[in-house]
Amino acid sequence: MQVEKREIVKRGLLIGLSVVILAGAITLLILVRPATVKVPFLDTKEMMRQVSPEWEKPGKYWVTHRATPNIFEGENEVAGIVLHHTAYEGSADLVVKDLCDPSNPVSCHVVIDKDGTRYVLAPPEAITWHAGFSKWGNRYRVNLFMIGIEFQGNTLVEPLTEAQIESAIEYMRPIIEKYNISADNIVTHQMIRDAYREANPKNKKAWPKVDITPEEYERVRNALDTARLLKF
Ligand SMILES: [Zn+2]
Repeated sequence: MQVEKREIVKRGLLIGLSVVILAGAITLLILVRPATVKVPFLDTKEMMRQVSPEWEKPGKYWVTHRATPNIFEGENEVAGIVLHHTAYEGSADLVVKDLCDPSNPVSCHVVIDKDGTRYVLAPPEAITWHAGFSKWGNRYRVNLFMIGIEFQGNTLVEPLTEAQIESAIEYMRPIIEKYNISADNIVTHQMIRDAYREANPKNKKAWPKVDITPEEYERVRNALDTARLLKF
C-alpha cells in the first residue's frame, strides 16, 4: 500500500510539472510573438557585394563596373568634367540599364547613386554621348574632350546628398590630378548648352537645357575647393 501511494504522488507531481511547463511555454510564445510580422528588407546591393566579384570598394563608396556599349571612336582628351543630374527619381539601376542600352546611344562615364555608390560605365579616356549640342571656350562637341558625371535624382526637386558629393570627389580626384583639369573646365550641362545656344541662336533643336541646378553646382565646387581640387 505504501509503495502504491508513493507511486500516485510521483505521477501527480509529474503531471503537475508538465502542466506548469506547458503553461509557461504557451505564455512565453504569446508574450514574445511580435505584434506584426515584418518582411525582411532585401538589400540587393549588399547581396551583390557579397556574391559578385565585380563589386569593389576602393574608397569610402562602393563602385561597380558596367561597361556601356555606347562609346564612340577616338580618345577623350579628358580636359574637363560635365555635371548632370539624371532627372529621374527612381532606382539608379534603371538609369544604368538605359545608358547601357545599345538602341539608344546616350551614356556617360559614371552614375552616382544617392547613397554614393558609383556605377562606372566607361573609362575617362572613352568618348561617351552626354553633352549633346554643346560648346565650351571656343570649342564645340564637348563630348570629345570632357567626361560626364550623372548624379542620380532631380536637383530641381531634391538637393544632392552629402554621399553623392563626397563620392563624386572620390571619383574626380585621381582624374583631375592625372589630367590636370582646370577649375574653369568643371561645368554643368546647362552651361555648355547655354554657350552653344548663345553662339547658335537659330538652332531650334538646341532648346534650353535644364539640368543640375546652379546651387548644387556651387556645392560641388565648394567640395572641390575644400579637397584642393580647384586648379586655376
Ligand atoms: Zn545632362
